[in-house]
Amino acid sequence: DVVIVARLSLGLLLTIIFHTSFASLLNKQKAALAKEAGEDYLTGILNRRSFTKWLDKEIPEAIQRKTNLALLYIDLDDFKRINDSYGHDIGDEILKKTSERMMQVVRTNDVLACLDESFNVARIAGDEFSLVLTNVNQVKNVETIVERLLNSLSESYKVDNLILNINASIGIAMAGTDGDTTEMLMKNADAAMYKAKKEGKKRYQFFNAEIALELSSDKNIERGLQQALANDQFYLVFMPIYCTDTLKMTGVEVLIRSASPDLEGVGPDKYIPIAERCGLIYDIDLLVIEKALQKILYMAQINIVQPLLFCINISAKELINPSIVDKLSFLLKKYNVDSSLIELEITETSLVGHGSKSITTLKKLKELGVRLSLDDFGTGYTAFNQLSNYPVDTLKIDRSFVNNIGRHDNVKRSMVDVISSLAKLYELNIVAEGVETEAQLNYLRNLHCQQVQGYYLSKPLQWEDFLKLVKSK
Ligand code: C2E
Ligand code: CA
Ligand code: CA
Repeated sequence: DVVIVARLSLGLLLTIIFHTSFASLLNKQKAALAKEAGEDYLTGILNRRSFTKWLDKEIPEAIQRKTNLALLYIDLDDFKRINDSYGHDIGDEILKKTSERMMQVVRTNDVLACLDESFNVARIAGDEFSLVLTNVNQVKNVETIVERLLNSLSESYKVDNLILNINASIGIAMAGTDGDTTEMLMKNADAAMYKAKKEGKKRYQFFNAEIALELSSDKNIERGLQQALANDQFYLVFMPIYCTDTLKMTGVEVLIRSASPDLEGVGPDKYIPIAERCGLIYDIDLLVIEKALQKILYMAQINIVQPLLFCINISAKELINPSIVDKLSFLLKKYNVDSSLIELEITETSLVGHGSKSITTLKKLKELGVRLSLDDFGTGYTAFNQLSNYPVDTLKIDRSFVNNIGRHDNVKRSMVDVISSLAKLYELNIVAEGVETEAQLNYLRNLHCQQVQGYYLSKPLQWEDFLKLVKSK
């Protein structure tokens, strides 16, 4: 019997292997053919390449004809969550339906001048689409279509037995006024989309002077970041973390600062997100890690034996950066630093969206022996029962919740209580940040929240001052 079962299952296995490899071969072939035809293999609409080729021709013509051409940049809100929660097959179905709905809206419209060649739709990447309307009589007509699009896209999607709800955000740029090349129009429509998304979901936004200004100021900051990296103008400040009961210093959070004149008046709150968008964040994170390790080595060399945990912020992007683990490991060896003295802080929101990939990186980081903490905890969407899947050691309660202790905002005040019970349940260490008053400190002490940091205890310190403080203890 055992042999038969084994044979049967071997047969089954081979059949499965055959079918899956055959299916994937077919899919690959399909994708290659679609690509050749300028189509997106999944949705059948244009792919990015053929779409931009078409636009390159269409934009100058529209400008010359003096007819309106509107480029819409459409992005699904929280689509990654659908992929993570229900799998890529469901995600793919949604994308197909999205493109069908977009086609439907433009095809059945009654506001475009000449129906036949007055639009084109493409999938630009993942959940990003672009739709171009040519021959629009009035800008008002663009609005009409955009509103219809938003309504259509936000209707529930039925896939398998699921009913899913998704919204979209749309940015719009007009040829001529907002740019005269494909690249410019796409960039500006994308910036407008970004703005729409920031304002909330299911919104649209035309590109305008204010967005243009923000774009150029972001560009200046990006240049400033590049300069600061090239000229070694970043340095660290040190914010002590204390044991709530004894007020003994147990650790320190390192925070980045810049001495570059190009970044004057701009803090990390502003420039870190820009560094994340333009890709400079990887260099910045490594630089911060390296500078922190140098300080730890120095403290060992001058015989400061009090073990302090060094908490280093890293960007969410590192969790999908394949080289972070090796680079950190290399630096730990280079400076001969015991990995248990390091805690990496990662914002909670970063875990949502990239799902399993993030968790794999977190596990690899943990294997190096470093500790991990979830920063700004309470502001993201972590399903609390997922906490057991994350290999983290610490929850860092977001400043906004601590801030509300002692005020009459029961909802936020109770967040501190909820998070600290949660931490107990999952046996996680807890740090409350942003403690600014004695009342807040006492409240946290009563909750048995183990560690605190904040202006009430110490502001971030320059290295020399921090060292004095450590030595004085
Ligand atoms: P974060 O990680 O939540 O850092 C805490 C921020 O809150 C710091 O601002 C700190 O100065 C401030 N803070 C701490 N306690 C108090 C308080 O009691 N009252 C008030 N009003 N503020 C308090 P900072 O240094 O401006 O950093 C802002 C954010 O920039 C950080 O938020 C973090 O997300 C990012 N960041 C800072 N340094 C780095 C870094 O080296 N690498 C990366 N990737 N991000 C960094
Ligand atoms: Ca932090
Ligand atoms: Ca924080």
